[in-house]
Amino acid sequence: MKKRNKKILFTFDYELFLGKNSGDVLNTIITPTNKILSTLSKLNSRAIFFVDATYITSLIDYAKLHKKCQSDLLYIENQIAAILDGNHDIGLHIHPHWLDATYNSDSGCWDLSEDKKYAADSLSKEELDQIFHASFNALNSLIKNHRPGYKINAFRAGGLCVQPFNLFHPYLHAFKIRNEFSVLRNAELNMIHYKFNFKAVPKADFYIFKEDVLIPDEEGDYVEYSINKFSLSFLAKILNSFYFRLSNLLLKTKNQGVGIVPNIDNNTNQKRSLLMYIKKPATETLSIENINITKFFSYLFYLKNSSYIHFISHPKLIRPGQLLLFYFLISILKIFGSDLNYDYEKWIELKKK
Ligand SMILES: [Zn+2]
Repeated sequence: MKKRNKKILFTFDYELFLGKNSGDVLNTIITPTNKILSTLSKLNSRAIFFVDATYITSLIDYAKLHKKCQSDLLYIENQIAAILDGNHDIGLHIHPHWLDATYNSDSGCWDLSEDKKYAADSLSKEELDQIFHASFNALNSLIKNHRPGYKINAFRAGGLCVQPFNLFHPYLHAFKIRNEFSVLRNAELNMIHYKFNFKAVPKADFYIFKEDVLIPDEEGDYVEYSINKFSLSFLAKILNSFYFRLSNLLLKTKNQGVGIVPNIDNNTNQKRSLLMYIKKPATETLSIENINITKFFSYLFYLKNSSYIHFISHPKLIRPGQLLLFYFLISILKIFGSDLNYDYEKWIELKKK
């Protein structure tokens, strides 16, 4: 047994679906997050919830016109209070394409399918100024209502599109946010409206940087906490493939649409031919919504052998059975003597403050 002390990050992107139909706040965010909070509390674990603050500003704008937006905002505010009471962190998450969102007052849901402003580099300077300041202020004031002394100190870019970082730097600097969580190790995405290239990621799991999220620089103001990818074993890949065929056949389950969230991680929970499974290594992010019974031991093996673990999950995608598997995974880790260290701000020291 090696590496008993584990630096561990459980992160959640707290947001609606980002395509044609956003889903309802209760089903998509509030209810699943309550289940997550109760699981984390049983595990005595801490997490970071990256709250989509662009959603909050939209709710504030529309609250004057629609009562439902006002009550949805109250749900979010109360849940943010519950998250803080659970000793978790709130991080800033920004999806600029909320600028083009439309509200459907009949369904109480949003249409976020216009995605040409998905990434920060598609925005004008004025739009960037507006969206960053409005989002930070909206989230910050919700927090301050409940916890005046709390300071937001974590950031994740929408869709992980954090390049070029010089677009983000002036705002994060102004808000004194030092911790960045958008670099998915060795991943690359090249779509019209959203792209990133993290192929040249440094070896270190977390590091100080200054101007470029991929270039460590001890003199910098920021810490990058990179996101792990993990590979399924050959056997797990085959089992997983059968598992999905069988469950699709028996339950006729349809995966909920994830809208235009870019498919960044070759999620293995997809129908693929067996041959494709054999040929291609299946890598995915460590995500609660990716866990199933056939992957349980792959996850356990990976977690047992890693000293740095970065989960990225989405309340909107998690089913209760997966939370139970997650609960067992983490409990088993602890039973086998792993000491889980959640104090990410103490893992590395910035020179400048
Ligand atoms: Zn997001």
